[in-house]
Amino acid sequence: MKCLNCDCEKFETKNVRFNPEIKGEEVEVVVPAFVCTNCQTPLMDGEQMNVLRKAAADKYRKQHNLLTSDDIVKYRISLGMSQVAFANYLKVGEASIKRWETYFVQDVVQNDHIRLKCDEAYAELNALEVHWKSHSSDIYSGNRTFCLELFKQAVRFLIKFTKSPLFLNKALFYADFKHFQQYGISITGARYVHLEYGPCPDQFQNIYQLFRSKGILISGGHHILKSIEEPDLSFFSDTEKEILQFIAKKTAADGGKSLLKISHDEEAFKKTEPLEIISYEFSKKLKI
Ligand SMILES: [Zn+2]
Repeated sequence: MKCLNCDCEKFETKNVRFNPEIKGEEVEVVVPAFVCTNCQTPLMDGEQMNVLRKAAADKYRKQHNLLTSDDIVKYRISLGMSQVAFANYLKVGEASIKRWETYFVQDVVQNDHIRLKCDEAYAELNALEVHWKSHSSDIYSGNRTFCLELFKQAVRFLIKFTKSPLFLNKALFYADFKHFQQYGISITGARYVHLEYGPCPDQFQNIYQLFRSKGILISGGHHILKSIEEPDLSFFSDTEKEILQFIAKKTAADGGKSLLKISHDEEAFKKTEPLEIISYEFSKKLKI
């Protein structure tokens, strides 16, 4: 091996900074290379080139919020698939898998496709979003489009007083219906279903599952859920905060037991069929 700059034949391995271009954008990486001991000019063998290309691709991916090569390998391993099986599963060529797992940056659409097929929580959220988008705001959502962020903050606030999903669901129902009764619009835009245990937010199991997978809610023992972070009440208007605090007060003493009981006497519950979506019209007759 000879230096391209000075003909010297002595090299040592050093970590060198490179600025390769990925998709027309310069990225900066530090990777090992042979360096001429005389003039410091770097020279790379095939293996070092591969390391550089992978490092550069991953740097770009991180900057653009794309899955890294390691993320993609992890997904494939977690599904127990070979590269061939994974290629069939994603309906792409085997060469694509080999490249994505190394130096070739997948585009945004491919990235989304991989996540939808490999990340359970992401797929779940996507299904929920389709569900929410396909139902525009109407009397069943309290004249408001469902907002996951507001629902999350309301859950974070009310879970402190109610602890289990059973009581939390009733507190959410009363918060949304009470606000609709007073102001003609719900707080979170959630739709409520008539279930055996009273009115519950539509898809609540999937939503809480999603919150748990994202670490927003954690298990605090038997049937108990806890929020790690404090709610950010700045998301709510003053009337929304008043109603949430009103409901919190109603549940503070018994964790929501009495709310659960009253909810079964509500016309919203008595005059709807099992699994029926409950109209916010029933808020006129609310018992609290
Ligand atoms: Zn040299």
